[in-house]
Amino acid sequence: MAELIDGKSVAEDVVRRVKALTAELAEKGGRQPGLAVVPGLAVVIVGEDPASQVYVASKSRTAKECGFHSVQHTLPAETSEPDLLKIIGQLNADPAINGILVQLPLPGHIDSGKIIQTIAPEKDVDGFHFINVGKLGTGELETAFVPCTPAGSMLLIERVRGKDLSGLNAVVVGRSNIVGKPMANLLLAANCTVTIAHSRTRDLPALARTADILVAAVGRSEMVRGDWVKPGATVIDVGINRVAAPEKGEGKTRLVGDVAFAEAAKAAGAITPVPGGVGPMTIAMLMANTLASAYLAAGLKRPSF
Ligand code: NAP
Repeated sequence: MAELIDGKSVAEDVVRRVKALTAELAEKGGRQPGLAVVPGLAVVIVGEDPASQVYVASKSRTAKECGFHSVQHTLPAETSEPDLLKIIGQLNADPAINGILVQLPLPGHIDSGKIIQTIAPEKDVDGFHFINVGKLGTGELETAFVPCTPAGSMLLIERVRGKDLSGLNAVVVGRSNIVGKPMANLLLAANCTVTIAHSRTRDLPALARTADILVAAVGRSEMVRGDWVKPGATVIDVGINRVAAPEKGEGKTRLVGDVAFAEAAKAAGAITPVPGGVGPMTIAMLMANTLASAYLAAGLKRPSF
């Protein structure tokens, strides 16, 4: 059976380190006098989507736990695009704020792309601004903000395989801007030979079997079967899918990943569970990105994780 990659415990390690480095920053101060040395995270949510409310509350709570200055803007669903742009402008200009996160999805009358591209790149802790996407694509990892889910997945891979992945074949299933593409760029930067697969890929099972590192970011429950996994491979399951669980009672549900866990765990060398794998890493990396932004704003080298 494969080694279980415990994302919950790695995420707790990251948050512990962020907390310690936040305390150190407050104590020592930055190189530029007058600039805030307490990392500040602003989370903006528009509308009442219950899942988004849960995510945002959890982000704000973890930010406080890390010792950050944590601000939450909860705006009604009918907030206009100009009003939201104005709030982003104010947060961009506020020296007490190092990270701005706008919870997606936004209501249909607001252009999400325009909002994201208005966030100052140096405060774009979600890593979605074109500047940060470009930095990741060109290997400028010292100053890039990398999207939190692939950054967290990468930390999990490093726990198993180390930082230099030279010579390993990686297959990333999914080509979204939020997960698949940045994941592929991170693996490439770590010297993997990377293939990105998607819905038009031919013979995906055969391609997946070439992977020493297999990342599934698709959004289709248990699509990756056991016989897609090369013996000994590291399998990272990004998928979060809610499926019916009649065995738990009528109307009950449970979470499953994009990988058929029980089958894949028989072949894999190491595998992430769902829940408890990649999921907890996302918020932890948001904290790490906000801390990095505060260090950079204070004229200090960003801490590595
Ligand atoms: P997305 O934007 O919907 O992208 C899905 C990708 O999967 C697309 O590139 C799509 O290909 C590909 N795909 C769909 N069906 C396929 C098939 N049959 N064979 C091969 N590829 C296929 O999704 P996402 O935002 O990347 O998220 C992916 C999953 O990760 C979801 O389950 C999501 O809930 C989860 N997720 C988890 C976290 C977390 O853990 N915190 C964060 C983000 C996302 P095309 O491009 O050809 O359509």
